[in-house]
Amino acid sequence: MTVAENLTQIQENIIQACDKAGRDPEDITIIGVTKYVTIEKAVEAVHSGVRHLGENRMEGFLEKQQEIGDQAKWHFIGTLQSRKVKDIINKIDYIHSLDRKSLAKEINKRTDKPVACFVQVNVSGEESKHGLQPEDVESFIKVLQNYPNIRVVGLMTMAPQVEDENILRNVFRTLHKLKSNIQEKGWEHAPCPYLSMGMSNDYQIAIEEGATHIRIGSRLVGPYEE
Ligand SMILES: *Cc1c(COP(=O)(O)O)cnc(C)c1O
Repeated sequence: MTVAENLTQIQENIIQACDKAGRDPEDITIIGVTKYVTIEKAVEAVHSGVRHLGENRMEGFLEKQQEIGDQAKWHFIGTLQSRKVKDIINKIDYIHSLDRKSLAKEINKRTDKPVACFVQVNVSGEESKHGLQPEDVESFIKVLQNYPNIRVVGLMTMAPQVEDENILRNVFRTLHKLKSNIQEKGWEHAPCPYLSMGMSNDYQIAIEEGATHIRIGSRLVGPYEE
């Protein structure tokens, strides 16, 4: 399958999920995750109409960003080491993995304009996953008002690799509820309109539960094994 064919399929599934949930497909942003694939494949994705790309490693990000530049919006979705912040901060549009104060401090220091950040939450509680515990999210975001170059645009999570739809739904619902709590605070530095959740195997469920940004790798640019 070409990327264009995959994209068409994903867009159809988005429309279905939105129908089910009474949502507008326009409110869903597809982030093409190119971490497994070559620069050529990432270029193909852009030519097929993918407007947002995501990378989780510094090297992959830098090489693809150099080639593709501002033909795409750039999302950094992986763990970000503080000492690497300066290498990418002026090349990215969104960071999805803000999960600690030291990182916020470094981002704040290395740029002179607000950076759109998602705060990563470890909803499932798996030890292998990064992110804040749900109960720490509110106090963490409150503290971020001390860093004028951090703008909290949303929350991000990775669901566990399970088939059980109820487990997935619970994870997504918990993140949605946390987001609503933050929005209710009305904090100027944290408007928090977005939810980054849902990947190749669970994006329809994530959309039904309120996702605004879905991060799709294997189903979009391959390789994908059923
Ligand atoms: C790899 C990755 C994805 C995409 O995973 P697929 O299952 O291939 O769609 C999404 N988000 C993050 C943070 C990732 O590391």
